[in-house]
Amino acid sequence: MIKHYENDEIIVTWNPNKCEHAAFCFKGSNKVFNPNRKPWIDLSQATTEEIIKIIDQCPSGALSYKKK
Ligand code: SF4
Repeated sequence: MIKHYENDEIIVTWNPNKCEHAAFCFKGSNKVFNPNRKPWIDLSQATTEEIIKIIDQCPSGALSYKKK
């Protein structure tokens, strides 16, 4: 099921069916992306610029974002 997470500036979408478990996201920040936590994405843990940089590295397109 596709999930959405948002802060004041962006809406992040995660599509688990596309995720290749390449781990770039939680190597980028395991405060924002922590698979052992629910919800596993917490956008309050980094700046929007940092989050965007990490999402841009997601090789599968499972993570994407839209600016508000
Ligand atoms: S970087 Fe993308 S493909 Fe890799 S684990 Fe994170 S969401 Fe999945």
